[in-house]
Amino acid sequence: MSPAPVEITVSATGRKITVPTGLFINNEFVASVDSKETIQTVNPATEEVICSIVAASAADIDVAVAAARKAFQTTWGKNVTGFERSRLINKLADLMERDAQELAELETLNNGKPVRVARDFDIGDSIQCLRYYAGWADKITGEASIDNKTKFAFTRHDPIGVCGQIIPWNYPINMWAWKVAPALACSCTIVMKPSELTPLTALKLSELVVEAGFPPGVLNTVPSYGSVGGAALSSHLDVDKVAFTGSTLTGRKIMEAAAKSNLKKVSLELGGKSPHIVFESADLDQAANWAALGILYNTGQDCTAGSRLFVQDTIYDKFIELLAQKAQALTISDGFAEAASGGPVVSKTQYDRVWSYIESGKAEGAKLLIGGQKRPGKGFFVDPTIFTDVKPTMKIVKEEIFGPVLSLAKFHSEEEVIALANDTSYGLGAGLHSKDANQCMRVSSALEAGTVWVNQYNMLNNNVPFGGKKQSGIGRELGSYALEEYTSIKAVHWNFGEKLD
Ligand code: NAD
Repeated sequence: MSPAPVEITVSATGRKITVPTGLFINNEFVASVDSKETIQTVNPATEEVICSIVAASAADIDVAVAAARKAFQTTWGKNVTGFERSRLINKLADLMERDAQELAELETLNNGKPVRVARDFDIGDSIQCLRYYAGWADKITGEASIDNKTKFAFTRHDPIGVCGQIIPWNYPINMWAWKVAPALACSCTIVMKPSELTPLTALKLSELVVEAGFPPGVLNTVPSYGSVGGAALSSHLDVDKVAFTGSTLTGRKIMEAAAKSNLKKVSLELGGKSPHIVFESADLDQAANWAALGILYNTGQDCTAGSRLFVQDTIYDKFIELLAQKAQALTISDGFAEAASGGPVVSKTQYDRVWSYIESGKAEGAKLLIGGQKRPGKGFFVDPTIFTDVKPTMKIVKEEIFGPVLSLAKFHSEEEVIALANDTSYGLGAGLHSKDANQCMRVSSALEAGTVWVNQYNMLNNNVPFGGKKQSGIGRELGSYALEEYTSIKAVHWNFGEKLD
């Protein structure tokens, strides 16, 4: 029997949202084939349970992969035109636009972020992402190479096949869009595993997949625990590629599982400890705005969070005063509050983890500029916390915290700050503020990161690639580069004249 959907009432707005609770396989919401395991979803602002949904077992992953394989071989893969894929992806984008407010409220309920941010940024960007890749769907072609008068060769950019996609809880809708849009454009089929902490919007989006008209099995959604469904997907012998966003620790496990199973293609978007540099020539007011946004956007639960801030000694005192003012002006509250600029962190585990870092910063002798005190009451709220006088060896400087906690240090010379910035095993993002164009060019070239922001921070475009160096990941999302992750290139050599004696 299919698990019944639940009706949730969003108390802040009075909106009633019907949420599917089953696994989405072959365009239907179904029960597990062999398990009674569930996932209990929680509102991080109130700590109340939202609802329980079915958790996929390894056997359910087999069923979903089989559905995706069948679709790949019949209705999708090489059996659908690029034009048709483009039409369907655009239709999905239109439906997301229609339902943006409802999706945003569900995202806020499950993840905690302000509803305005979920709607205007996460969902707004996801719609654009779908439309961007809808534009690519009928333009994925190979190259012709004429060697001489008897031979030529050409390449086909074939869809790679069945893709496992494992996404995190910090941008549940956005990461869904970044993964599904290029995969669908390239004609791959998908088994999507959302995070067990935030699975509700992926299930709701599955309804739109049916309404848009995608054939059964093209996009399947299997909420599950990482060690069960995530592990089963990454070690599956009939999955051709796994795309992952999350922690470096899990990324390592996924790569190992891929290596030990069928050597499936792997792309990883992992953690970071991104440096953000303010030079003395910078527009200090603007730099303080970007520095605050860099660490506090999404309550610091951002893989590119500018969590190590370096400020030149000549402007240090003036700058930290400005930064403290900007950070304290932000309102961290329930995401349904009109004034909310940030919400709670996503879970009790994450809350405890962030606090353990704050305690370690205090114990290791860093100085608190703002924050660092717990709030009374319900909800996983952490106020903006800035430590100064940090040392490169401190835990808060070395490890990804994934919360609104900034480490601030002083530097003297450009050479010194480049060395400090690059002194990390990560290489995801980096930022610098300076009015000296030569300095901007020199430093952006020297920083070891997949993305460098100059006189801004954390801004992305769907047509610009995103990904990491060092232990921040492998492969690129967004832009035309993401198409390489979902295609397999075949070279065809053709002889039309040469004879063998
Ligand atoms: P995680 O890496 O464990 O979870 C991300 C996704 O991976 C989830 O869908 C999870 O179910 C899945 N997963 C977990 N174990 C798996 C396994 N063995 N095989 C396959 N998939 C598996 O992250 P987390 O535990 O939720 O958060 C811990 C830390 O990770 C955070 O504090 C933060 O530092 C980092 N993180 C980074 C990002 C990012 O965007 N780079 C996102 C989320 C978390």
